[in-house]
Amino acid sequence: MTVEVDVRTFPLFINGTWEPASNGETFDVFNPATGELVARVAKGTEEDVNKAVEAARNAFDSTDWKNMKPKDRSKVLYAISYQIAAHAEELAYLEAISSGGTVRRLGGNDILQMVDLFQTLAKFVEEYPFSETLPSPPFPGPAHNFIWREPIGVCAAITPWNLPMVIATWKIAPALAMGNTVVVKPASYTPLSTLKLAEIISQVVPPGVINVVTGPGAEVGETLVKHPKVDKVAFTGSTDVGRRVMKLAAETIKNTTLELGGKSPNIILEDADLSLAIPGSLFGVFLHSGQLCESGTRLFVPDHLHDAVVEQLVKLAGKIKLGNPLDPATDVGPVISKKQKETILSYIEAGKAEGATLVCGGKEAVVAGCENGQFVEPTIFINVTNDMKIAREEIFGPVLSVIRYKDVDEAIRLANDTIYGLAAGVWTRDVNKAYDVSRKLQAGVVWINDWHMLRNDAPFGGYKQSGIGREMGKHSLDAYTQVKHVHTSMVPEIHKRNWYGLLFSNTNE
Ligand code: NAD
Repeated sequence: MTVEVDVRTFPLFINGTWEPASNGETFDVFNPATGELVARVAKGTEEDVNKAVEAARNAFDSTDWKNMKPKDRSKVLYAISYQIAAHAEELAYLEAISSGGTVRRLGGNDILQMVDLFQTLAKFVEEYPFSETLPSPPFPGPAHNFIWREPIGVCAAITPWNLPMVIATWKIAPALAMGNTVVVKPASYTPLSTLKLAEIISQVVPPGVINVVTGPGAEVGETLVKHPKVDKVAFTGSTDVGRRVMKLAAETIKNTTLELGGKSPNIILEDADLSLAIPGSLFGVFLHSGQLCESGTRLFVPDHLHDAVVEQLVKLAGKIKLGNPLDPATDVGPVISKKQKETILSYIEAGKAEGATLVCGGKEAVVAGCENGQFVEPTIFINVTNDMKIAREEIFGPVLSVIRYKDVDEAIRLANDTIYGLAAGVWTRDVNKAYDVSRKLQAGVVWINDWHMLRNDAPFGGYKQSGIGREMGKHSLDAYTQVKHVHTSMVPEIHKRNWYGLLFSNTNE
């Protein structure tokens, strides 16, 4: 399939306008399905970051943006959601040609999720306890006390390439809902949809409230994280880079949210409905070529069901159609880059070398019409043990490790034997067993008879080294606020203040 693509140039988006990088440099963005050049994007510098932060600072410090009434702010969030819906096609197109995400998923899920998140937070904002009055306390004496929740200030949002606009929205929507301003740094493989999103949002918010600086993580990302005028960093990406971000943010004690990697366990119990569990487990691992942080990459299967389950997994995986993401008939697109493909193939080699048995896929795939694309076959290993590299490290590709277990306690022990804790799942017909296992799994989200189902009114984030903090839901509003306690004494007579005697010995004077 030949797709005609306009090579467009995307400048930086600062203070409501498009600007080239300060040194005029650009970098190239390629379509991972075809290898074609699709865009040239401004390669931001430290100077550009400073400019964007200054714009965001000014919009926060010197305008009424942060003081907007909840009802008016709610209207702004609804207006953004309508703008996203109106530009759905262009957003999905820009993302498909750079991330390899299929238009079927982008249209059928991602855009809807973004629209719904802005609308969900628009409702929450109207009910949010921006100001709470406390009852007068017996100690330390009669007083009138408020708790105020205030925006944090300038927020840096650093995002990965797998779900660029959804993950940017997880940060931008709550930040704006609480009256903050934002500078986004998207991944260099996939900046296009985020730039478009910022332009769309800027139609509704004052200049400087939303800015995007594209460019290398080591320069643009680090400058943002270290910047003394940035108050919060919300980072999504690999655990290694997250660790570095946390160290750099520590210099200025920045409020930091980290959404990191995963190696999520998926447990089929012996009473599971296999007609659901088998397609569900494949959906859990192969959607978007396995490039989803909460993919169910370790599948735990009871000994006596093992062979039957594997046979059906392989049969169904063989039907997944790789193709051009712009073709609505495509089930799964490419992986993001040649480098990522080579990383995935090297993990497949490591699996074989450690004694796992390949039963499906295992090679790069050649797709008709996309001969220069970066495709990897859906791959399934059996005879995997939980200490193998393919079971311990995040591959971020279409590779499923099937691990046998004898009893549920063993499955739970192995499931939790990982540095990660982003997601987990269990398939069973018994609701009591499902809740019991869910309680024991160390993960920020547990799916029962399902996978990948995130709700915008529920929190998402990791246990252990999968991250710190939560996105989406009311929790995300808390994450973009800071709390102030305001105290007024109700005791006019100084001698009756309970602190007076603590310092002054002659309390009768
Ligand atoms: P990455 O860590 O390489 O990059 C993420 C972002 O950080 C990019 O914008 C990158 O340019 C920037 N960056 C790189 N070095 C930086 C530095 N030193 N300082 C500041 N910023 C820097 O991740 P990736 O390869 O883009 O994405 C894949 C990873 O993201 C996987 O590990 C995946 O699990 C994780 N992820 C997590 C979630 C989640 O919600 N937990 C969601 C999606 C992806």
